[in-house]
Amino acid sequence: MPHKLPLSASIYGIDRWGKGLVTTLQNGDVALCDPANPHVAPFSLPAILQDLQQRGIASPLLLRVKSFLETQIAQLNNAFDKAIAQYNYRAPYRGVFPIKVNQQAQVVDRIVDFGRQYDFGLEAGSKPELVIALAHKLSKDALIVCNGVKDAEFVRLAILSLRLGFNTVIVLESPKEAEIVIEVAQELGIDPLLGVRVKLTNQISGKWQSSSGDRSAFGMNTDQLMRVVDRLRGVGLLHCLKLQHSHLGSQVPDVNDVRRAATEACRYYTEMTHEGVPLTHLDLGGGLGVDYTGEQRATENSVNYTVEEYCSNIVETVAYAMDAANAPHPILVTESGRAVSATSSMLVFDVLESTLFDAPDAPSAQSDDHHFVTDLAAVLSYLKPERVQECWNDARFYRDELRALFRRGHVDLRQMARAERIYLNLMTHIKDLVRTTEPESDLSDELKKIADVYHCNFSLFQSLPDVWAIDQLHPIVPLQMLNTPPDRRAVLSDITCDSDGKIDKFILANEIAPSLPVHSLPEDRPYYLGVFFVGAYQETLGDLHNLFGDTNVVTIDLRADGGFDLLHEQEGDTIAEVLSYVEYDPADCIAAFRKMVDEAISAGKLATSERKTLIGAYRDSMNGYTYFE
Ligand SMILES: *Cc1c(COP(=O)(O)O)cnc(C)c1O
Repeated sequence: MPHKLPLSASIYGIDRWGKGLVTTLQNGDVALCDPANPHVAPFSLPAILQDLQQRGIASPLLLRVKSFLETQIAQLNNAFDKAIAQYNYRAPYRGVFPIKVNQQAQVVDRIVDFGRQYDFGLEAGSKPELVIALAHKLSKDALIVCNGVKDAEFVRLAILSLRLGFNTVIVLESPKEAEIVIEVAQELGIDPLLGVRVKLTNQISGKWQSSSGDRSAFGMNTDQLMRVVDRLRGVGLLHCLKLQHSHLGSQVPDVNDVRRAATEACRYYTEMTHEGVPLTHLDLGGGLGVDYTGEQRATENSVNYTVEEYCSNIVETVAYAMDAANAPHPILVTESGRAVSATSSMLVFDVLESTLFDAPDAPSAQSDDHHFVTDLAAVLSYLKPERVQECWNDARFYRDELRALFRRGHVDLRQMARAERIYLNLMTHIKDLVRTTEPESDLSDELKKIADVYHCNFSLFQSLPDVWAIDQLHPIVPLQMLNTPPDRRAVLSDITCDSDGKIDKFILANEIAPSLPVHSLPEDRPYYLGVFFVGAYQETLGDLHNLFGDTNVVTIDLRADGGFDLLHEQEGDTIAEVLSYVEYDPADCIAAFRKMVDEAISAGKLATSERKTLIGAYRDSMNGYTYFE
């Protein structure tokens, strides 16, 4: 059902990054498309939020969409299948989802359920993740790949799980780990299923550059690898070594890095095969990136390739290398996490209030005004398009002089307040002029930096940790009113009292901008913003800064009739829960508060009738949401 996008929707580049998932309706609402049913009309996101609100589920809210997740799994597997057919590749693809990318049961369970038809498995990087993996019923041929540092307990569980029919591969990270595995395997008398992690020397570009190459913390160099092969041969376990693993780092921006790495991995693989190692699986790790910005460029938050291209490059490269070395085609494994889960969820929050750096009117001049105040007010009289820059320079000069005079005691507070308002009013006029004359200039860049601050009901540290820690960009858009031009520009500030809790880089259609075009806040209804593609890495890296806890989380399924089913709701943390994470016992807190109330009554400072109200208020807070309600 093709429909024309409202004009202002194009500002945000939704058609670039939202491809097949996010769009805009004529009424200005941002809407979700159902990738599983592309012919069904898009679903208004504000309408979904309103429905959830009526069910008692408030923002901030993490919204997961079932078909968004399933589509990614299908796309990855279908793309490999297609490439395998195209290049006459003679082995299947068996992907695994790395649990660390999103450990939430709702996500992992759905990946396993939907992935069973593709023999999709799981990757575990730690003991707890292995424990999660072993609680899932995988298909007979699906893999569990165990990476990361392992102790004897980890190894024992992995080996014993083979008895239940799991294909649990222990990937050896070092010669020392090989010793642990040999000891446990001999003690149990069970042949393990083994892999080796090789350290590729190719370096990738992008944010995870340092996790590739010589200095990567993981994997074995050629010398260590040969020692492990010899050692396994020596103890009669070489026949267990089936998988070769390598991992480039996440979000690889350039597909040619993928090709180069696959080529190098194949050299190790064919050489080991010639050494007599009975390898059957080639695992190329993660790295398949997400085009967060929609730029289709090899930059940190984008990629210059599609999933199809990634898969066909791998299949083509491996087929070529194996044929050249006369080696059988290995079963292909990737550990794509980000690409499977990132697009499947979005964070939605309401804007609580705004701090504006301009004013709609200016106070009139007074006879006792300092002459700089008069000068400042006079700027408006010569403000016209060709003198905007000059006017702005003058306005800043007079304001800065007045501030200096105020600090030295020559201008009083009331006069300073008038000057501030005159200045802000000038900015309002200047912003209007610059917007209507030339779209891009040094001045317009400067003006973006004096954007409004929109205070939003979320915690950056809890919900978008990578935005804070590694400058991750996510598409962010107002979810309504996109049929009217945004009249303001804002940076976003969260409700923690940390000055780092802000977002000031935004993906727009043609640029990464320091402020987001937004609308003046409506008075009669909430103004929602959505942060898209937050399904990878954000959910458990988040912390409890200022004790803002987990947000409400819902999983929905889009229905063909235009409605949706609420599949699952996870209520966000209450204050009591968050307090218990930091070693408070909520019951003790209530008791301590009650004691103070009773002491105040005894001392005659409080009426007995007030006791109920006070304790009730404390108890209600304790049981409430950590965010604004
Ligand atoms: C983190 C990690 C992955 C996941 O990488 P993505 O880029 O998210 O696909 C895969 N394998 C290993 C070993 C990892 O550490």
